[in-house]
Amino acid sequence: MINIIGYSEAKLALLFTEWGEKSFHVHQVLNWIYHRGVEDFSEMTNISKSLRAKLDDYFFIGFPRIEKKTVSKDGTTKYLFCLDDDSRIESVWIPDTGRKTLCISTQVGCRLACTFCLTGTLGLKRNLTSAEFVGQYMAVNRALPEEDRITNVVIMGMGEPLDNYEPVVDGLRLMVSPEAMAIGNRRITLSTSGLVDKLEQFQGEDIHVNLAVSLNATEDSTRDRIMPINKKYPIRVLLDALRKHPLKKSRRITFEYVLLKGVNDTHADAVRLAKLLKGFPCKINLIAFNDFEGVDCQSPSRETVLDFQNYLISKNYTAFIRKPRGEDILGACGQLAAETLAVS
Ligand code: SAH
Ligand code: SF4
Repeated sequence: MINIIGYSEAKLALLFTEWGEKSFHVHQVLNWIYHRGVEDFSEMTNISKSLRAKLDDYFFIGFPRIEKKTVSKDGTTKYLFCLDDDSRIESVWIPDTGRKTLCISTQVGCRLACTFCLTGTLGLKRNLTSAEFVGQYMAVNRALPEEDRITNVVIMGMGEPLDNYEPVVDGLRLMVSPEAMAIGNRRITLSTSGLVDKLEQFQGEDIHVNLAVSLNATEDSTRDRIMPINKKYPIRVLLDALRKHPLKKSRRITFEYVLLKGVNDTHADAVRLAKLLKGFPCKINLIAFNDFEGVDCQSPSRETVLDFQNYLISKNYTAFIRKPRGEDILGACGQLAAETLAVS
């Protein structure tokens, strides 16, 4: 049996045609699942009994199981999911004034092995299915009281989204579809380390969620060392691909830059970064490195971070320092995987 959660609208339409059913039933089914949250096909009362029976034979409706919830002193909440094969993944719910963001995972582990990232130390255990990908949002939203429901999604949890291409693209289409999850595309951000071949494929999908790119260095020699994917797709190649990114009016690419003490945090780096990004409609998100056990990286001083930001601002860039959230529960950027490690 197949989980209907995450099953794409296009595939469902195809299946209904095969079954000799009218395609408008697809929207009714999606509405029952994603808007009304039914967990049983028998509850879909405006659908014929015979179609309900076919659906029931072919599909089930299943969400990933929340195994543990850990709440930080700043309100950030980490959800540990236990998947059907006992793999563990994490999502992080981050409350802020006016928005509640869910950071979701795309893989168990990650094969890209960035040296500063805890998820990278796991290696790739496996890709998530589209059901597990969108299921994180569904499961957390159902567990939250009305006033805390998710308003924004960032695909910045465990894994490299473009390395799990099809399930992520199927999931994104469901997220933005008004018939399904109906999250506005401006409220979704996909973060990638820069898999250029997949990025180019993604640019042709006509999906207009926000794009964030983990640049993290201004010279290939440094980026090669901290993000091995750079050996395949060096900075220049990545930026050339991004220059062609189909941006809607008034939208910008976000460049993420994790500041690592003595590695990429000097004034010369700030100068090079300003030069590299010249002419890009972009925002820069500076992230002071978040620590975890056994890692050979350090966070720069607050002063270094502020100097770096101020230089970029002086060059007319929009540059933010990302507020660390949920550090006390290992819920901040790059800290996800601890629980996965603990149980594996
Ligand atoms: N694989 C994707 C998305 C997951 S990582 C990517 O690399 O973009 C999400 C963000 O966390 C990336 O910008 C990454 O550079 C950052 N990150 C990883 N480890 C970190 C750490 N220890 N401290 C701060 N940020 C980190
Ligand atoms: Fe993977 Fe992103 Fe971590 Fe790099 S930073 S190892 S791409 S999850």
